[in-house]
Amino acid sequence: MKLSISRQSLRTDLFTPFYAFFLAALLNLSKKFAFGIKFSILDHAFPKIHSSKFTFQMSVLIAGTVAIDNIRTPDGVMHDELLGGSATFAAIATSFSSPVNLVAVVGEDFPKEHLELFSERKINVDGLQVVEGGKTFRWTGEYHDDMNSRETLETHINVLDDFDPQLPAAAAESTIVVLANMAPADQLKVLSQCSGSTFVIADSMDLWINIAREELDEVLKRIDLLVINDSEAKMFMDTSNVIVAGKKLLEKGPQYVLIKKGEHGALLFGGGDRFFSAGAFPLEKLVDPTGAGDTFLGGLAGSLHQHHQENPDDTIGLDDISRAIIHGTVLASYNCESFSADKLLSLTQADIDARTKAFLTYTQLV
Ligand code: AMP
Repeated sequence: MKLSISRQSLRTDLFTPFYAFFLAALLNLSKKFAFGIKFSILDHAFPKIHSSKFTFQMSVLIAGTVAIDNIRTPDGVMHDELLGGSATFAAIATSFSSPVNLVAVVGEDFPKEHLELFSERKINVDGLQVVEGGKTFRWTGEYHDDMNSRETLETHINVLDDFDPQLPAAAAESTIVVLANMAPADQLKVLSQCSGSTFVIADSMDLWINIAREELDEVLKRIDLLVINDSEAKMFMDTSNVIVAGKKLLEKGPQYVLIKKGEHGALLFGGGDRFFSAGAFPLEKLVDPTGAGDTFLGGLAGSLHQHHQENPDDTIGLDDISRAIIHGTVLASYNCESFSADKLLSLTQADIDARTKAFLTYTQLV
């Protein structure tokens, strides 16, 4: 079953209200669909009323930041007013594989064209709060000659300060939940409202390890997969060895831990003695890697969601996450080739397939 059921197809005459009520009584209103997708039969009967819920229920929830970024490149040039934020990149990446429910906050100054961009890409913005008179979260970063090293120059929290995430019903029922980088306290607020999740993924950063460790520990107890940078994992677990860090992080709760190593790829823990290690796609020229980690995260979630839709009775396991890592890696590589999410937004499925095919040959023995 395709994820993107068009509203038109939902208006089929086959499901008249009469048949729907009859079936609803028979099926106790809500059943597991033959393909494993939970939905209310009333949604089928009254698609005009419930259409948004129907479409976005079978989707990925992405909660995090939506930002305006300023990026200074190694040549000293400042690139202003770029669409950024952890949830932005993750949502755009996921939208290649699945509808998305976005949960975040922006100010009144957030450009309308960005809101339109989300809607055009199966990204439901019902959970995106727009604060009247408020200012959007702003972040300024600078890259040095080695584009792997970045410095934060300025952070203006603005509307994030009073953010109280409220999940619309469809978002709460999303099957895959992504807690992109944001304050762990907000990640917990989102999690407490989730009712339909089968797999929860969280990202974090050094800032939260330093200032919100207790809340972060609580997040770790409640998720299935932690995605984190190698330097942050080592700092968090107080070790200089990435393998030790991965194993210690597993003890904090998540079933899987995925450590990102920038241009050296990623390493997945949680399969006992089994690991999955993938390189990064080799790129000669990086324009702006901002959001690569979030794109990776979103790509990963989209792939897991797609697999879950096709195999609803399977538990998500090491092999599924490994496959998803390949997809996330490919999308992240494209993200590095432009400012903001420009390159991602122009990608076709054929582009993604071609790079995936090439990437797989790089790790195969002939
Ligand atoms: P990445 O390059 O994957 O680490 O993601 C960079 C994005 O994260 C930028 O677009 C920023 O707007 C956003 N960002 C920066 N600092 C934070 C923060 N403290 N919390 C959440 N998002 C942030």
